[in-house]
Amino acid sequence: MADLDLLVLGSGVAGLSAAVRAAELHGMAVGVLTKGELQQATTRWAQGGVAAVLGGDPDSTDLHLADTLAAGAGLCDVDAVRVLVDEGPARVHELIALGAAFDRDTEGQLLLAREGGHSLPRIVHAGGAATGVEIERTLVEAVRAAVAVVHEEWFALDLLVESDRCRGVLAANAAGERMEVRAANVLLATGGFGQLFAVTTNPSEATGDGVAMAIRAGVAVADVEFQQFHPTALHHPAMPRPLLSEALRGHGALLRDAKGERFVDELLSRDKVSRAIAARMLEEDVEHLWLDATGLEGFADRFPTITADLHVAGLDPAVDWLPIAPAAHYSCGGVVADLHGASSLAGLWVAGEAACNGVHGANRLASNSLLDGMVFGPRVVEAIERGTTGPTATGAMRSVLGGDDIGGRRLTLPPASERAVADRDELQRTMTMHGGVLRSAESLQRAATACDGTVVGDDLPSWELRNLVTVGRALCAAAAAREESRGAHTRSDHPELSADLRTRFVVSPA
Ligand SMILES: Cc1cc2nc3c(=O)[nH]c(=O)nc-3n(C[C@H](O)[C@H](O)[C@H](O)COP(=O)(O)OP(=O)(O)OC[C@H]3O[C@@H](n4cnc5c(N)ncnc54)[C@H](O)[C@@H]3O)c2cc1C
Repeated sequence: MADLDLLVLGSGVAGLSAAVRAAELHGMAVGVLTKGELQQATTRWAQGGVAAVLGGDPDSTDLHLADTLAAGAGLCDVDAVRVLVDEGPARVHELIALGAAFDRDTEGQLLLAREGGHSLPRIVHAGGAATGVEIERTLVEAVRAAVAVVHEEWFALDLLVESDRCRGVLAANAAGERMEVRAANVLLATGGFGQLFAVTTNPSEATGDGVAMAIRAGVAVADVEFQQFHPTALHHPAMPRPLLSEALRGHGALLRDAKGERFVDELLSRDKVSRAIAARMLEEDVEHLWLDATGLEGFADRFPTITADLHVAGLDPAVDWLPIAPAAHYSCGGVVADLHGASSLAGLWVAGEAACNGVHGANRLASNSLLDGMVFGPRVVEAIERGTTGPTATGAMRSVLGGDDIGGRRLTLPPASERAVADRDELQRTMTMHGGVLRSAESLQRAATACDGTVVGDDLPSWELRNLVTVGRALCAAAAAREESRGAHTRSDHPELSADLRTRFVVSPA
C-alpha cells in the first residue's frame, strides 16, 4: 500500500476532528488506527460540555482566556490559550454543521451552562450531560463517510523512526498479527493516562500509550505531574467510575466523613475539595467518604444520568448516602507540541489529551479539553497542508526550543531495572495511594519503585501495562522534582507555590 499522507492514531475528538478535516477539506489520503472500535474513546464519556464563547456581550474570548489562565496557575502558554478561545467557536459551529445536536431552548437558542472557574455561562452541551456521546457519534459518522482507511482493534505498539523522522507505526491485533502502517505524517491522538490510578473516571483504554511511545522514541514530554482529580466519583467497582457532578454540591449536597461529620466547604474549587477529601481519607484510613444528597428535592428530574448510574449501583439518593472518593480525571501534560501540534520529532504531530501544547498549564479549566481536541487536531492538518516540516518555538514547544519566560528543565529518566513489574491492579493502587492527590518525597519514592521494572508478555494487557509503567516513571520523576504545590499537583511536604519552579519539566529517556 502507498504511504498515507496522514495516519491518525486514536479515535476521540482530537483524532477524528483532524481526520475529517484532512479527508473532506484537503482530500488527503488519511488513515485512522485505533485500538478499540471507532466510537471507543474517553470522548464519549464527557458529560458537561464544550466551553466556547458563542454569544455576544457580556462574555468575550478575553474573559475565557483570563479564566483559563487563572486555572493554569502560571504555566499556560498565553498564545496557545488565545488560539483555543479564538478558534474554538468556529470549530463548534462546524461540528453543528456536521450534525451535532446541542441542547437548545424553545426558541432554538443554544443553552449555555456555567461550570466552576468560568466567569459566565459558556458551556454548550448535548442530551443534558451526554455531550461526549453526541460529539463522538457525529465525528464517527463523518469519518465512516469520508476516510477510506480505518483500522479498528489494532493497537499501535511503537513509532517507526527512520533518519530522525517518524514514518509510521508498528501495530498489532489481538490475534498477535503485526503490521507496519507507513505515512508521511503521524498524528498521536491517543488520549490521557487516568488508568495509572485505581480510582479514575477514565475508561480502561486511557493507558497513555501515545505518551509512552513518544518517551521511548526520545520525543519531548512535559507537565505529566499535573494529573487532575475529580473530587466526587462514585466509589463503586464500575469502571470508569461514575461522576457525581459538582452540580450536586451546588444544589446543597453535603460531604461527610466516616463518622458522618462535615469537614469542608462543599463549594470550594475542585482541587481544594479533592485535597480535603484525600487528607480525611488518610486520617481515617478509609477508602471512601460520603456525599449526602438526601436533602435535595427533585433529584431524578434534575439529574437523570446520575440517577441512572446510582440505580445500577443499587443506591437511592433520597435515602442512601453516596460513597465517594477523588478520581483521576484529566492528564494536563503529555507530548510537547507547538501551536500547530508539531512534536520535537519531524513527521510526528500530537493533539488532544495526549498533548502538552500549553493550553492547560498546571490545571485544566472545566470543559476546555473537548475544545482543545477540536481546535488543535484540525490545526495539525492545516500545518501539514502548508508544508510545515518541524516544530517552531511557539506554545509549550518554547520549553524545549527556548523563547519565553516559562522555559523548561530537562529530566532524564534512567533505564528501567530488570525486575518484573507487579500487575496492573497493584500498580494502580500504589499510584492512587502514593502518587495521587496528595504527594510527598517519601510517597513518591514508593510510587516510583512500583513503576520501575520491566513488563514481560506480548499481549494487550502487557502492552498497556508497559505503557502505564513508562508514563508512571515520568510522572513520579516530575512530581518529585516539583517541590511545590501548583495547580493540580499538591505536595504535603511543600504546600506553597515556588516562584523558582514556574517552569516545565521536560522528560526524556537517558
Ligand atoms: C467522565 C468524564 C467526563 C468528562 N467531561 C468532560 C466535559 O464535560 N468537557 C470536556 O471538555 N472534557 C471532559 N472530559 C475530558 C475529555 O473527555 C477528554 O479530555 C477528551 O475527550 C480527550 O479526547 P482525545 O481525542 O484527546 O482522546 P480520547 O477521547 O481519549 O481518544 C483516544 C483514542 O486513542 C485510542 N488509543 C489509545 N491508545 C492507542 C493505541 N496504542 N493504539 C491505537 N489507538 C489507541 C483510544 O482507543 C481512543 O480511541 C471528561 C472526561 C471524563 C473521563
